[in-house]
Amino acid sequence: MGPDALICSAKGCRRAAAHALLWQNPKLHTGDRMKTWLACDEHRQHLSDFLTARGFLKQIDPLPAAGSDGDIGLPG
Ligand SMILES: [Zn+2]
Repeated sequence: MGPDALICSAKGCRRAAAHALLWQNPKLHTGDRMKTWLACDEHRQHLSDFLTARGFLKQIDPLPAAGSDGDIGLPG
């Protein structure tokens, strides 16, 4: 568990996040201020549905898979 581990924002979920959901509540966030939720594959749909239903969702970005860029054990 390194400090770089990105964990899903869903309540009670401890999975590694694979997606970043960028959203904005126009009543609370003005200008370019955006909030970010992290989601694992399992919760991406749930969280995006929640935000979409309220008209808050702006964008979903993929996150690099955890541990996929460590190059551990790869020869030269
Ligand atoms: Zn999750």
